[in-house]
Amino acid sequence: MSPSPLAFLLQSAARALGGTRLLIDEPVSGITRLRLSSRTTRFNGMETAAYLVGPVLVDTGFVHAAAPLLSFLADRNLSAIVLTHHHEDHAGSCGPLAARNRCPVFLRNPDRRFDEGLADLKPYRRLWWGEPEPYAPDPMPARIEADSTTLLPVPIPGHSATHTALLDEATNAVFTGDLYITGGATAVMSHENPFESIASLRRIADLEPRVMLTGHALLVESPAASLRRKADAIESAANRVLSLHASGARVGEIVRRVFPHGRANDLFLEWITSGEFSRSCFVRACLGWAPTPEQRAAM
Ligand SMILES: [Zn+2]
Repeated sequence: MSPSPLAFLLQSAARALGGTRLLIDEPVSGITRLRLSSRTTRFNGMETAAYLVGPVLVDTGFVHAAAPLLSFLADRNLSAIVLTHHHEDHAGSCGPLAARNRCPVFLRNPDRRFDEGLADLKPYRRLWWGEPEPYAPDPMPARIEADSTTLLPVPIPGHSATHTALLDEATNAVFTGDLYITGGATAVMSHENPFESIASLRRIADLEPRVMLTGHALLVESPAASLRRKADAIESAANRVLSLHASGARVGEIVRRVFPHGRANDLFLEWITSGEFSRSCFVRACLGWAPTPEQRAAM
């Protein structure tokens, strides 16, 4: 299918801005971190990371940064590609990489990968990251073994229905995709389920990993306390949302009371993302996904 004129324009604009960069390091012995950015994403203070663990690649960055990643991996034989989730900033280049290596791409809930704005990417997502190359995912197995590498997938829904953490058995490092981008309760995307995110954060904290490596290249040593603090902050904010709503407050008022600071920045984010990412989305998500006490206990 040929892209729409707007998609073509934004794709061309991102290419013209260029400045694609790949930074390589080994933050944990045996794990290569591939940090990908472009002039557009650096302007926004963002980068994404792919990780090489033996012959397994965890995530593949975004399609605008495909060239340096494919070039770096040109002489390596990948046994498998594992995606922490199917968002365009992490799944961008798995199509050409899987084709070249004739290897599987593992993804949790592959049938749900177009449920979260990927079927028709908003303009800001096309400009920053671009539309992922097509690929045919296989369901996530119970464990991924290749040579001496063993990765244990752990479901972490909330940010995405396809979201999975991967625990590296050899190093006790955990790859968490977008489970933890910053601390505290923050703006979310409109499809997210904050209650599932709370449970997912605690699930990974309970594993007591030695180090957390995130989809946006953050490294946190002994991350359990940070993960629990974030879960507590989201839970506290969500409970406040439900209590204010029960007392008759509307969404706008709830946003102002639960998030008293940084309103101008949030409104800018809401505008530039066409309403897809904001604190209002967090409030609506809390109201829409509020679980019964029984459901919450079962999470
Ligand atoms: Zn994501």
